[in-house]
Amino acid sequence: MPFDLSSRLAERRAAHLYRQRPLLESPQGVRVVVDGQPLLAFCNNDYLGLASHPAVIEAFAEGARQWGVGGGASHLVVGHSSPHHALEEALAEFTGRPRALLLSSGYMANLGTVTALVGQGDTVLEDRLNHASLLDAGLLSGARFSRYLHNDIESLGSRLAKAEGNTLVVTDGVFSMDGDLAELPALCAKAREHGAWVMVDDAHGFGCLGRNGGGIVEHFGLNVDQVPVLIGTLGKAFGTAGAFVAGSEELIESLIQFARPYIYTTSQPPAVACATLRSLQLLQGEHWRRERLAQLIAQFRLGVSALGLNLMDSPTPIQPILVGSSERALGLSAALRRRGILVTAIRPPTVPRGTARLRVTLSALHSEDDVNQLLEALQQALRELPEGE
Ligand code: PMP
Repeated sequence: MPFDLSSRLAERRAAHLYRQRPLLESPQGVRVVVDGQPLLAFCNNDYLGLASHPAVIEAFAEGARQWGVGGGASHLVVGHSSPHHALEEALAEFTGRPRALLLSSGYMANLGTVTALVGQGDTVLEDRLNHASLLDAGLLSGARFSRYLHNDIESLGSRLAKAEGNTLVVTDGVFSMDGDLAELPALCAKAREHGAWVMVDDAHGFGCLGRNGGGIVEHFGLNVDQVPVLIGTLGKAFGTAGAFVAGSEELIESLIQFARPYIYTTSQPPAVACATLRSLQLLQGEHWRRERLAQLIAQFRLGVSALGLNLMDSPTPIQPILVGSSERALGLSAALRRRGILVTAIRPPTVPRGTARLRVTLSALHSEDDVNQLLEALQQALRELPEGE
């Protein structure tokens, strides 16, 4: 048989790397039903609790009534509707950039942007812990592609010194599996010394960082010259779906001309844009959601350090506990699940070998009591599976 898929699958299973999809049988949220079991969940990216907000749902339903369900065509044919346009204008204003462009997913936004900006004869430099979509984009671009050490400005500098052609430095704003922030002020200064452009994917920072939820650029107060290419995704704190690129007039027009994942795909349903316009207002205006998150993060970090666990250094709602082996991460995740708590084990290749972890994410909809329940379950899980087993 030419394709020996069964051996490949068996190898993956033996290495404790086999993936299974839990079946969600309830709406997304803090309390979910998965595979028939009611669970308290600490693993979705709906950080502000907007995915099931009644006003967002209503805007979506009304949008579907008015605009139908499907996007109907690609943006350049006849799929670019008034709700898409209004959302792009609102996102430009929100990010303080001249223009924004809406895409159907963050993965496509990253592929489309990098491949439209650099190609053969150019250079793309990426943090080695960047999201897979950014790394794939770098490879696909055909530019010289190199990964620098995580958040290491010296390591970036030595690569910049050897760069050729147009050079793009690409980083996550908040690292999706670690929760830490990119060292953006230093990174932007280093890129500028070498005439390189900076592209930031702030999928996990928008909504959570900055007083108005403007993400890492608001957090550090960075302007469009320092971060000319800014990506946000809408499936996380915004609670809807899709993504955007924000930047100059020329950047957005270039993407409309050259970004293949933008050009050759059906636009997102206009109703999603209607829902996102509503969630953007809530995300900006309801400061209590970020304040609640900050309290929960402090409570969780204090509690976990008392348990002697290896908590990663993160100021964001992504609070990973470093475990090491995939087997132990799976064991702890299963022990939590037996206690009614859902936290997924993240394993290679999503994270580097030997750094499997429990990726805990907090939401503004969690209560202090929910976090206490998680801490208690963690303590019991550790007793059941002491280190070394
Ligand atoms: N960038 C980052 C940093 C992400 O974490 C993700 C998704 N988890 C994406 C991009 C892809 O976004 P989307 O889910 O909208 O494709």
